[in-house]
Formats: sequence, structure tokens, C-alpha cells
Amino acid sequence: MELGFLEPESIVKIHIDKIGDDGLDINETLSVDWFTQTLGKDPIFHAENPGFFTAHLARADEVVHVQGESSVELDATCVRCLEPLTVSLKTPLDVTLFPRGKEPAAKSDGEVAEDDLGVSSYEHQEIDLESVVREAVFLDLPMNPVCQESCKGLCATCGINLNRATCDCAVQPGITPWEALKQLKI
Ligand SMILES: [Zn+2]
Ligand SMILES: [Zn+2]
Repeated sequence: MELGFLEPESIVKIHIDKIGDDGLDINETLSVDWFTQTLGKDPIFHAENPGFFTAHLARADEVVHVQGESSVELDATCVRCLEPLTVSLKTPLDVTLFPRGKEPAAKSDGEVAEDDLGVSSYEHQEIDLESVVREAVFLDLPMNPVCQESCKGLCATCGINLNRATCDCAVQPGITPWEALKQLKI
């Protein structure tokens, strides 16, 4: 059985009968093409290198538990100063899959409870590992990547990178409310 992501659209699907009493271990590469396909035209993140994941599948009757970790490294741009940065994510995989229609009852009001994040479903007796990994990685991506928590960003007036230099814009009138407040205090 070929498990490689040879095509961007290929999917790792595991028939549940392949999961024996000792479970099943999967080690797989996440190709650059897969990232390109998965991240789409998202300008925030892109991959220069493949990632990978490991997963152990265990089965109890119809219920399949997937546990493992994905490891990805993505290039991004700091949302404050626009400098390039690398986001390294080690994302735990921990999902329990039920046959579609046999998931534990929940979310009658359409709301997804916190506990439901670790629950998914499968169809046609096949575990779609690719979507398990994709969802976990996406949830783990930072919404607003920054080069460092203390990044000072760019001056809104002159555009200078305030991590590297200072400017005089802040002492001029009509800047940000924050600057005005600081000047009041002085
Ligand atoms: Zn920054
Ligand atoms: Zn400035």
C-alpha cells in the first residue's frame, strides 16, 4: 500500500481492518506540495521543507483512536514588523473516530463543546489520516505570528522598524491615542 503523498491531492486512508490487536503505526511525510495545497493561497504561511507525522492507531470494535504528533516548520511574516520568521509546530494528534452517524450524541444546539475537538468520524471503514493531521495542524497555527512577543512593530507614521531604530514621530502631535496619553503623563 502506497502511503506517500505523491500527489498533492492524495490522501492517507487506512482501512480499519489493517489495525490489528497491537494497533498500527504510521510514519508519513507531509510534502511541500501538500502544504501548498492545504494552505492554499494563504499568504501568512508557506512551507519550504516537508513536515512529517507519526501516528499510532488503536481500535476497539468500531472505535478508532489516533494518537501521535505532527512536526511542521512554516515560514511566515511577523504581523507587526513584517520581518520573516519560522513557525515550528509540534502538534499532538489525539482523536477518537467513530463510524459516521455513531458519534456520541452532543451539540444539539449546534455548538461545539471543547471536548468534541478530540472526536471525529469516519466513513466506508476508512480512517482519513490526512484530514486528522490537517485539522490538528490548522488549529495549532498561530493567528497572528510575531517574531518575538516583545516585537515593537513598525512606526505607523514613518514605517521604521522600531525593533532596530527609533524615530521622532512619537513626539509630534496627532499620533496615536497611546502616544498622546504617554505625553500627557510626562
Ligand atoms: Zn516582529
Ligand atoms: Zn516614525
